[in-house]
Amino acid sequence: MRIARFSIDGNVAFGAVEGDKQDELVLDIIKGIPFADYELSGTKVPLGKVRLLPPVLPNKVVAFGRNYREHAQELGNAVPEAPFAFFKPSTSVIGPGDDIQYPSFTEELHHEAELAVVIGRMCREVPRERVKDVVFGYTCANDITARDVQRREKQWARAKGFDSACPLGPWVETDLSVDAANDLTIQLTVNGEQRQLGRTSEMIHPIEDLIVNISEAMTLLPGDVILTGTPAGVGPLHVGDEVAVTIEGIGTLTNKVVKRG
Ligand code: MG
Repeated sequence: MRIARFSIDGNVAFGAVEGDKQDELVLDIIKGIPFADYELSGTKVPLGKVRLLPPVLPNKVVAFGRNYREHAQELGNAVPEAPFAFFKPSTSVIGPGDDIQYPSFTEELHHEAELAVVIGRMCREVPRERVKDVVFGYTCANDITARDVQRREKQWARAKGFDSACPLGPWVETDLSVDAANDLTIQLTVNGEQRQLGRTSEMIHPIEDLIVNISEAMTLLPGDVILTGTPAGVGPLHVGDEVAVTIEGIGTLTNKVVKRG
């Protein structure tokens, strides 16, 4: 099932996305919250009539760096032996169609297409074989990065944590197994031109390793998001650009870059 979060007439709700053709999609409004008990209401609204929101409001976004060999190499970095994580704050999250605001403190804004894992239940010290039980589903992410600031500053709080640095969406696909999610095509276009193309099977540390690694240290909560790293091909974004992340079996997340007002 594809679960979207949306607003209509000032109300916020979750809905199950039904249909195949982009312009004929409808939302079956969900009663309750998807992480707990819920049911489909049978009340349907066309997707075109609502504003899609970030599909979840994470307590935290944990992002893993340099998890694709060719990407680590393209930036001249060593491939880390163990997974390493950093945070993107909840205030960095925006939804599909929201604007990426180009901050004034950078001159080198970069895109990074990433598969995002959405956690479905509170968990800690998750053993490898239980990872499938704590995953709610998957969505697309763009780990927007101020590359010049990242090079200058040892911690990446500013470089990767500014407002709008974490587009998520368009919805959460809950029907993919962990094995399937570890082998999907991921691509990114800027103004329709392909910039990144890879497969999640190229990840140095697959989804299970990442969740074992971070849950060893901290409790994960329903709605928390794990970013799994980006394939090669990262590059600059400019004001006016439209950037789109597409992941096989999930969907397309599109955002426009604007100057921060
Ligand atoms: Mg990244």
